[in-house]
Amino acid sequence: MTHVFVAPHPDDVALSCGGLIASLRELGQNVAIVTVFSGSGDGTALNGYQREALGFGSKALWPNSEAFNRASIRGDYPTDDPSIAPPWAATSDRLDATQDDADAAAKRFWQRSSWYRRASIRNKPLAGQPLIDDLPTQGAVMTEELTEAAAAGEVMARRRLEDEQFAYFAEAAVIFLDLPDAVFRGYEGDEELLGAVREDDDAPTERVRREIIRLEPQAVYVPLGVGNHVDHQLCRQVGIDLLAESRRWVMPGPEWAGKVVFYEDFPYTWWHDFDRLEQLPAGALDGLDQDLILAPEYADVGDQLERKIRGISLYESQLDRLFGGEAQMAAAVRSHGAKMAGLCGLAGAAERYWRSLRA
Ligand SMILES: [Zn+2]
Repeated sequence: MTHVFVAPHPDDVALSCGGLIASLRELGQNVAIVTVFSGSGDGTALNGYQREALGFGSKALWPNSEAFNRASIRGDYPTDDPSIAPPWAATSDRLDATQDDADAAAKRFWQRSSWYRRASIRNKPLAGQPLIDDLPTQGAVMTEELTEAAAAGEVMARRRLEDEQFAYFAEAAVIFLDLPDAVFRGYEGDEELLGAVREDDDAPTERVRREIIRLEPQAVYVPLGVGNHVDHQLCRQVGIDLLAESRRWVMPGPEWAGKVVFYEDFPYTWWHDFDRLEQLPAGALDGLDQDLILAPEYADVGDQLERKIRGISLYESQLDRLFGGEAQMAAAVRSHGAKMAGLCGLAGAAERYWRSLRA
């Protein structure tokens, strides 16, 4: 028997349920995380927007196929016009002087073998010698397109690695479904990413269902979709679909009521001051059986709060984008935990969940 946490992205479960997971592990319960949208699709490109949305906006990416890509460095062309020359740029005169020095040094070196080879400091071919950058076996030959394709896969690989590190830290199992993140399914800009799910973009219910059934779940935790990210909405739909499942059977089917639990998406729930289901966009919970209610439940995580913070800090690539740094993340987690605890009369920290129950 396992507690299965469905995460739209690497990091969502640590952010929203890190306290409860630590608490369950202390009680010796099994925890498995199913991370759904951890893939980059065919990985053909990663544009500036995608990089930003995945949390890598200002981070340097190092393609693994080469140590250094010169394509991104602007040419250092000599100019004598001081109004457009950056202060560190050399003038033609200075470059000529440097070239003379280089020629003299080359002569001194090569005369020992009575062979003399010049090299241009301006990266221009001399005496028919090919430029090193033009030789396919030397230097950078990757086009920008190839570099970006590599980077798309790498961004997601790095996020999966952070998720694995968290799973190791939390003593949980992690399963990656590697479905492409929304930014690789054509959603662009916050308006689309936090807007309506496209009609042809189905919830991955069957994929997730197959994984969780074999784990014999004692409970399945899915996001409530606070903040309305499309990937979170689709994972909420998985929970709603599971709850509707008994209707598909003529004989009494598997009963998911009581087992499906919705978690509040942190930090969205903190930013939006979420408190009531009515604050979700209209229609968010359509498809729930009429006789089902979602009842709030508070998990006391006072003793696990610092562990939760440590767990979130493993998602280094996301801390700046979400919080502006690690210290700010810790402060937000503590404030939100205290707020939730206050709502249920606890002194320390709590996380709030919404359990499905038949009325
Ligand atoms: Zn997410």
